[in-house]
Amino acid sequence: MSDPRAADALADRYTILRELGRGGMATVYLADDRRHGRQVAIKVLHPELGAVLGADRFTREIRIAAALNHPHILPLYDSGEAGGRLYYVMPYVRGGSLRERLASGRTPGAEEAVALARQVAAALDHAHTHGLVHRDIKPENILLHEGEAMVADFGIALAAATAPHERLTHTGLMVGTPEYMSPEQAAGERTLDARSDVYSLGCVLYELLTGEPPHRAPTARGVIARRFSEAPPRARRVRPTLPAALDEAIARALAVDPADRFESAIAFADALAGRDVPGRAPRLPSLAVLPFQNLSTDPENECFADGITEDVIAQLSKIRSLRVIGRSSIMRFKGREQSLREIGLTLDVGTLLEGSVRRAGKRVRIVAQLIDAETDRHRWAETYDRDLTDIFAIQTDVALQIAGALEAELTQEERARLRRQPTDDLQAYQLYLQARHCLTRWTKQGLDQAIRHLNEAVDQDADFALAHATLAWVYLDMALAVVGSTPSSEAFERARTAVARALELDPGLAQAHAVLGHLKYACDYDWIGAEAELKRAIELDPNGGEAYDFYGLLLSALERYDEAIEMQRQAHAMDPLAHRMDIVTTFLRAGRYDEALRAVTRVLEVEPELPLAHLTLGWVRMLTGKPAEGIAAMERAVELASDNTLYLAQLGQAYARIGRVDEARKVLGRLEELSRQRYVSPYHMAYVHTGLGEDERALDWLERAYAERAGGVFGIKGSFLFASLRSHPRFQALLRKMNLGDG
Ligand code: ADP
Ligand code: MG
Repeated sequence: MSDPRAADALADRYTILRELGRGGMATVYLADDRRHGRQVAIKVLHPELGAVLGADRFTREIRIAAALNHPHILPLYDSGEAGGRLYYVMPYVRGGSLRERLASGRTPGAEEAVALARQVAAALDHAHTHGLVHRDIKPENILLHEGEAMVADFGIALAAATAPHERLTHTGLMVGTPEYMSPEQAAGERTLDARSDVYSLGCVLYELLTGEPPHRAPTARGVIARRFSEAPPRARRVRPTLPAALDEAIARALAVDPADRFESAIAFADALAGRDVPGRAPRLPSLAVLPFQNLSTDPENECFADGITEDVIAQLSKIRSLRVIGRSSIMRFKGREQSLREIGLTLDVGTLLEGSVRRAGKRVRIVAQLIDAETDRHRWAETYDRDLTDIFAIQTDVALQIAGALEAELTQEERARLRRQPTDDLQAYQLYLQARHCLTRWTKQGLDQAIRHLNEAVDQDADFALAHATLAWVYLDMALAVVGSTPSSEAFERARTAVARALELDPGLAQAHAVLGHLKYACDYDWIGAEAELKRAIELDPNGGEAYDFYGLLLSALERYDEAIEMQRQAHAMDPLAHRMDIVTTFLRAGRYDEALRAVTRVLEVEPELPLAHLTLGWVRMLTGKPAEGIAAMERAVELASDNTLYLAQLGQAYARIGRVDEARKVLGRLEELSRQRYVSPYHMAYVHTGLGEDERALDWLERAYAERAGGVFGIKGSFLFASLRSHPRFQALLRKMNLGDG
């Protein structure tokens, strides 16, 4: 690195390997991120620019950009100041930039060029809806990851653009690049909107198709002058075989007057796809409920505050015309440091509900305020000073007030369901809240505790439908859990009893329908009945992520992959920070490896130590001809969760598949040893034998897994793990028993 001080300062975490490229404002290095064992790209700003920007502005703008969450936006890992130089760290994109691709002479065909432009447009649109304009779209800032576009440098152009103008000009640095700069940006207008990026993207696409940007001249000033003086050029004049509609769309993106261009990047993308959809589908008002702060002196009340948060979410979820973020994503913001704007961006919501709870004896004080995420403006606020017995009335009131403030329409039925009180017994309700609290950890101990509290709750109030439904859900989870202690068949039966009771008490309870739906396919192999239950659950609670998850699994098990992915994407939109590994598995089952890789990479960016993500990454590698990397990733999963027999067994299969038979046998031995101490799913045993080509043994275990309803067995039909057994008559017979036979 040219600046030894910066290199030294970075050295405790990163080893600089080489320079990747140099732009007008920075130098980008390839580096080894030793903590995570991955290669990264570090962009170090030139000192002059750093001086103009200042660390504060840099950090502020970078953080806002870092909150963007989109498959075609290059994420940010880290940023800071090292040895007086500002830097930020991003994934290293092996495919290089579109500029390098153009320079190499491998110019994309028209179809690929349009596909890339549409990906960039989608990324831009995401940023634009959050009020961010990129300002420096050019081939250098579009990187190619596995053939797809990743837009880089969101924060930096923005940071520079907000720097004091005179100081910036003084350094001779320019934001934007003459060839791709919109006329209004070139004219020095400071308030640019989406249409300025549309223009730049038009230039990039023009160049991809014709080999040269639309306006060229010997000097920057000349280039800029041309876009005012000349009509937008036509790509078809250079390349007459291009479709007329494509030529038309580019010309419109390049219009001198922003008013003549597409309104939004997505409108441009649609035009490129040959669709002329002028606007977008109206988006539902969206909302995230941040964890209510516990202001009571007694820390025990923490769980009460969390309970209130969850119940307010549950109430709001019932409103069809609102998009409400699910609890797993929300709970990450407990004791948060991020600004409301950043949270809004991360969760892709327009409004946030913040609140606090103070409990003292039989009194409770709840403060709630609804805030516009972008402007920080209050939209509604209320303080409730009431008796504890009014807790449900308060929750209902909060939900109705929010619906009113966001102009969400409620049906009669929705109103009625919102008003329904879960229990009249406060003590039962508190036991229920304690159980929910135990569930946040998802450990075996947590599950056992939750079951104890829930049983106490229903002892206290036998008509507490929600407690019965939650009990059913916990048992269901135990039945499906990868670290099972109770055999699945027994847990399923307990779930069944509890869910029947819940539905008897309240036939309109969404959560109970979701659990029943899952039971019907995972345990009864009644796929049609299951689908009906899950549809009902979604109808009753359109924001209830669980039902979408369960439905996604059903569709994937039936090999209806497109529908499964759509369902799992919806689940993701509702709970963007939950792990969502299911969609990765569906991509794998569907043979869509590129998408699987992208999805799992994103999960690992957020949660670098999630064992299941490493395991799945391992399979992506294995199935795409990279066995060494595959094994390494799976070994990592086992290392991170050494008592998990699912991971161990799959690693065993992987060893066997690549001929490392001794190691596979060792895994088998380990599983047998474990099974003498505790329950080991027969399903896991089947994995290893399948890998070893011991089909009969594998089928013995699979048949046993079927008889026990061991978690996961419902999904064997399309599973790549059992692909080698598919034509075996015993496997076929098993599928028929599960109502999955062909024909
Ligand atoms: P510019 O974008 O103006 O070229 P930059 O300093 O942003 O300047 O980047 C310099 C070069 O480094 C880019 O053109 C690109 O080729 C390369 N580069 C930037 N970021 C990455 C990355 N994350 N992965 C791989 N190469 C990168
Ligand atoms: Mg760049």
